[in-house]
Amino acid sequence: SVRVRFAPSPTGFVHIGSLRTALYNFLYARKMQGNYVLRVEDTDRTRLVEGAVEGMLSAMNWAGVNHDEGVMLSDDNKVVQNGDCGPYIQSERLDIYKEHIKTLIDKGDAYYCFCSRSRLDRIREQQKNEGLDPKYDGHCRELSQEEIQDKLDKGEDYVIRMKLPENKSITFNDIVRGKVSIHTSDMDDQVLIKADGFPTYHFAVVVDDHMMDITHVIRGEEWLTSTPKHVLLYQMFGWKAPTFVHLPNILNADRKKLSKRQGDVAVEDFRNKGYLPEALVNYIALVGWSPEDNKEIFSMPELIEAFSLERVSKSGGVFDTAKLNWVNSHYIKEADTQRLVDLASKFVIKEKLMSEQEVKANNEWLLLAMDTVKDRLDYLAQFPEEIKSFLNSAMPELEDEAREFMKLEHMMELADELEAKITAADTITPDFVSAMFKEIQKEKGIKGKNLFMGTRVIITGQNHGPDIPMVLSLLGKEKALSRIEQAKA
Ligand code: GLU
Repeated sequence: SVRVRFAPSPTGFVHIGSLRTALYNFLYARKMQGNYVLRVEDTDRTRLVEGAVEGMLSAMNWAGVNHDEGVMLSDDNKVVQNGDCGPYIQSERLDIYKEHIKTLIDKGDAYYCFCSRSRLDRIREQQKNEGLDPKYDGHCRELSQEEIQDKLDKGEDYVIRMKLPENKSITFNDIVRGKVSIHTSDMDDQVLIKADGFPTYHFAVVVDDHMMDITHVIRGEEWLTSTPKHVLLYQMFGWKAPTFVHLPNILNADRKKLSKRQGDVAVEDFRNKGYLPEALVNYIALVGWSPEDNKEIFSMPELIEAFSLERVSKSGGVFDTAKLNWVNSHYIKEADTQRLVDLASKFVIKEKLMSEQEVKANNEWLLLAMDTVKDRLDYLAQFPEEIKSFLNSAMPELEDEAREFMKLEHMMELADELEAKITAADTITPDFVSAMFKEIQKEKGIKGKNLFMGTRVIITGQNHGPDIPMVLSLLGKEKALSRIEQAKA
């Protein structure tokens, strides 16, 4: 049965591209009723970032891209491992790599290399000057058993390299790219074990994917050029290679690879701005994959149903913030209002519109405010800006069109009527406002635009905006009266 894996290196924030890689693995596993494994690849000891594993796992939990096996967060947020193919953290598998590298050395497919950094730098320089692609010159390939033992006894530093067969062409089939071929004369004797005793990515990934019974390797296109090395390792071990699927890059609007410099690329960034996880997942699924019809809104079960590796595109997918915002605003309109208020509270507190206690005490008000403005939000961090005027008795600066409207003949009479009726009311509710409008229409003959836009201008200083019965209810009696007072002045 199908087994796929997502194999992040804990080197920092979670790039949106990593979320997509994880998502495609997840979708494929679910679709095929297979298993989805998460393995931590931490063999580059120089790039480790504290907390990155937890950050990765919590981003995946948030997004609902859940794996069945491997490294996970426990209920109390500890990193734990689950499954029969562990350990799932590469730094805990060093004995396994040692055993496997020995197999390759014994077969003559790998060799000790004692070349110093300065020698490697020197030949690299030379090759560059001669216009050649720099690669290892094979200096240590033919060391005798005695020479090797002697250097090991002396405690010299070494790495272990793969011994490339001469004059061989390596071919594999990629689901997205089709047939890929490369000749060993264009490859290098790749380091498999580094001087610190840790395996390189290339060695560890092959050993682990084999031992964890991975059937499909679904990963970013940046690994495509490494795949021939992996294929060769599978051949050396006599193992069956998995099926490879290299996903196109995610590009920015200039069709360059999306990077941190252009703004938000971390899953955390989107989460912190108040994008809903189901929206981010829906959108990112469509960057690099397309369904058979033109459908754009997908729940997770619908994505699982529709997903196929065959429809992953070859060319890079452009990350379009406007499109993401459109998808997110769709989900905001659909979402439960209490959930939105709970998610938006932190922004209300951060912008100092309310304290934490006030947020709790004013839940009803916040629910009404959310229902009033949610159609206008791309993401929830915009909520405070949309509601802050409702908390203020000061009339916002009159816009030019509103100033013109204010000059219309009926406006003073309307302001007086509103003042009288609101003064007489206990509390303002949307129902009260609707009833009040009917009365004014009947009693004073003010109707249509004159009535509705007129009231809006008097109350908000603007000709357009959210539903006015809602706005009046949010303002409440005192602030509404104060606004009318200011409009009349
Ligand atoms: N550890 C690699 C990364 O961080 C995984 C590449 C792969 O999936 O083989 O991207």
